[in-house]
Amino acid sequence: MEILKGLPVSQGISIATAWLYIPKTPAVESRTVSSSQVKYEIAAFRAAQEEVEAHQRRIYEKTLKRLGEKNAEIFAAHIEMLRDEEFEKDVLNLIEKRRYTAMRAVKEYLDEAAAIMRNLPDPFLRERAGEFQDLQTNLLLAISHLPFTSLAKAPKDCIVVAHDLTPSETALIETRYIKGIVLSAGGLTGHVAILARNSGIPSVMGVPDVLAKVKNGDTVIIDGGQGEVIIEPDEETLNIYRAKKAEEEKLQQEYQELHGKPAETVDGQRVNLYSNIASPSDLYLVEENGSEGIGLFRSEFLFMKSSVEPGEEEQFDAYRKVLINMGERPVILRLADIGGDKNLPYIDIEKEANPFLGCRGVRLYQKYRDIFETQICAALRAAVSGNLRLMIPMVTAVEEVLFVREEVMRQAARLKRLGKNHNANIPIGVMIETPAAALIAPQLAKVSSFFSIGSNDLTQYVLAVDRSNIALSDMYDNLHPAVLRCIKLAVDAAKKEKIEVGVCGEIAGQMSAVPLLVGMGIDELSISGKRVGAVKRLIRSLDAVKCRGILEQVLELDNGKMVRELIKQELSL
Ligand code: PEP
Ligand code: MG
Repeated sequence: MEILKGLPVSQGISIATAWLYIPKTPAVESRTVSSSQVKYEIAAFRAAQEEVEAHQRRIYEKTLKRLGEKNAEIFAAHIEMLRDEEFEKDVLNLIEKRRYTAMRAVKEYLDEAAAIMRNLPDPFLRERAGEFQDLQTNLLLAISHLPFTSLAKAPKDCIVVAHDLTPSETALIETRYIKGIVLSAGGLTGHVAILARNSGIPSVMGVPDVLAKVKNGDTVIIDGGQGEVIIEPDEETLNIYRAKKAEEEKLQQEYQELHGKPAETVDGQRVNLYSNIASPSDLYLVEENGSEGIGLFRSEFLFMKSSVEPGEEEQFDAYRKVLINMGERPVILRLADIGGDKNLPYIDIEKEANPFLGCRGVRLYQKYRDIFETQICAALRAAVSGNLRLMIPMVTAVEEVLFVREEVMRQAARLKRLGKNHNANIPIGVMIETPAAALIAPQLAKVSSFFSIGSNDLTQYVLAVDRSNIALSDMYDNLHPAVLRCIKLAVDAAKKEKIEVGVCGEIAGQMSAVPLLVGMGIDELSISGKRVGAVKRLIRSLDAVKCRGILEQVLELDNGKMVRELIKQELSL
């Protein structure tokens, strides 16, 4: 038995089997081979072709069964590409005539093919460039006799153990079937952490050298609240954690009794409790926990999940599914927030020295016009089926809001010309997640239908602390009075203009922060489905007048630590 310590990223106890995720992309040397070696390189290419084909066929069948024809199509297309006569002929030519290794021939051919595709005027063909990249990785893995690794292949009910996960890798996780995540990298507020919390997956990150300490198939206990990972526990430890888990489940049962009851303070101040989702497959969390709406649909995860850009129909289907499920309850769809730590394999976002201060969110829409236009069309068409609101990420100026509003009108006119059913009469709101947005909140409130405060980015930008920098995690404090003051500026401006204001960043689900947000008079908190019960119970025990008094005091304090102490002293939280 070994106990490892890390960051308490997502609370909850999990006892399950470890599954190690170690992705490898083989290095390709630029070398040639002797003429006698050529036949072996051809054989290696042919064998890889067969292996990748068999692999793609298996995924095709599995996806077809689980998700239907539309989602499986892509794997059928991969098989077709693999057997394309021209591809085969050209790769064999490179091996025979230029004496390239099979690896080099595959890489050079598919790199060039992807580059040509990327420059085509037809957006549909351009989208397919990413598929060449996928095919290349699989062929290179097969030639190198390395296993195909994909998070989509993680066995049911396992604990994923990895060094790090990119947001697009994270997007592939079947959150419902994963029991835990342990990473040696990763901070408290990066996107893997957020996804884990939203889905209620117990997770510990920043565990040094975890891959060297855990083996595939080891029994692992995660205590997400304490940031502890126990490898191969003895019977006594197992029993202790089984009992803790049972207690947790009992508490969840108690929360269920609050289902259908409002989140209202003892003196009658009402807060709407919404949930954050990343895809329609998270809807079960919303239903199980009785959320009153979706306060943040992180639509970019739909884009990151796929190796090609999701088209209008695919997005339309996803948004409509969510809206139909939610009925009259509001769904706040955030326009794709790409950039920062979230990149797409099929667009070349220029390398930037400071991506979080670079071309991100609304700033990208001018440059990638068709991604933006397609998403708006899909959203307006889906809006016919429910209560949709659109939200703009990374706003720093009034003009950005006006630009999106104009685009919505332009796309509505286009849909009308095409005779497509749509609804453009929807609220368009702004994420307050930059200091600029908080400081000009009075101006933004005049052109916005609602505000939603993104405390994750707001904290990083107000405190000048990179949210994914693990070395600075102590400094990343969303209860710092500077952050609270910015939030209050936005809430006050919204109240003055009589527009709704909510919080969709992580602070909305933090027990010590909720009384302060109630004290500000927040209309809505959007949190992980799993947190709804706990936050509702807390709000039902609070007195809003007392919360206002505490808020006034904490705004005058020097730092986050003092804020926490005062809340603990006043409310025992
Ligand atoms: C935020 O910044 O608080 C937010 C909700 O958006 P994200 O975490 O996706 O950047
Ligand atoms: Mg954000």
